[in-house]
Amino acid sequence: MPHQGKVALVTGGARGIGLGIALKLADSGFTLAISGRRPLEEVQPALDEIRKHSGASIYVQADVSDGSDRARLLLAVEENLGRLDVLVNNAGIAPRVRADILDAREESFDELIATNLKGPYFLTQSVAAWMIRQHANDPQVHRAIINISSVSATVASVNRGDYCISKAGIAMATRLWAVRLAEFGISVYEVRPGIIETDMTAGVREKYDALIEAGLLLEKRWGTPADVGSAVCLLAKGELPYATGSVLNVDGGLTLPRL
Ligand code: NDP
Repeated sequence: MPHQGKVALVTGGARGIGLGIALKLADSGFTLAISGRRPLEEVQPALDEIRKHSGASIYVQADVSDGSDRARLLLAVEENLGRLDVLVNNAGIAPRVRADILDAREESFDELIATNLKGPYFLTQSVAAWMIRQHANDPQVHRAIINISSVSATVASVNRGDYCISKAGIAMATRLWAVRLAEFGISVYEVRPGIIETDMTAGVREKYDALIEAGLLLEKRWGTPADVGSAVCLLAKGELPYATGSVLNVDGGLTLPRL
């Protein structure tokens, strides 16, 4: 396999979209490091599934919003796998309660920004330093950082302003890191999923069923973690060259303006 020996880190890789991404990457030959908040026992079935394709893959329990956890995560990747070629900033949360921005609470804003924006931003900073060192030793290798944002980076939902702002921030973070890291051969991309069938959207299933039925999307179905995984895989493998800083929509046409 062409990507055998390369290592990808997917935060939040043990379920939902992250697992969809991890499985596609493992299938392409990458060794995976996945992380999440839960203890290893709870994610063992997901890790076993990944290891069917990529035996040496590891799981690290680490809260992406916590600086010391992020440092421990990268240390574990370095000690166990020795290198890092691809970072996928996927871990993220929705607000605990969807609240109108006229009432929404500051605690929710702080939690969303810490997890969805500050965590990936500073994880990228640390990974960038490591990738720059790797680039100096081995400049031919394609390295990439891929941020999973959301259609919410541009589509305003007034019952989850904190989420939208965190994802709009990720859009700018993608641009900033694309500019800063290009000279080191590191491509930075943003993938914007639409309505994807995962635990995160389980509570709003009927609402979106009705919207999809009414014609919200051009491709009339829920998106799947595998759909997002395919897009990320393309970028991770370097199959979209000369395109750093790009945004890839995986939203079934949700954000295409129509009259
Ligand atoms: P899920 O709720 O199914 O999974 C979220 C993942 O993120 C879990 O693996 C979880 O780990 C991990 N995670 C959450 N908080 C932390 C944290 N503080 N530290 C480490 N890991 C954490 O969500 P999805 O798979 O649906 O979402 C994945 C990403 O895709 C998110 O960034 C989300 O915003 C984005 N997205 C989702 C869409 C959708 O329709 N589902 C649409 C657009 C974007 P654990 O399991 O251990 O809790």
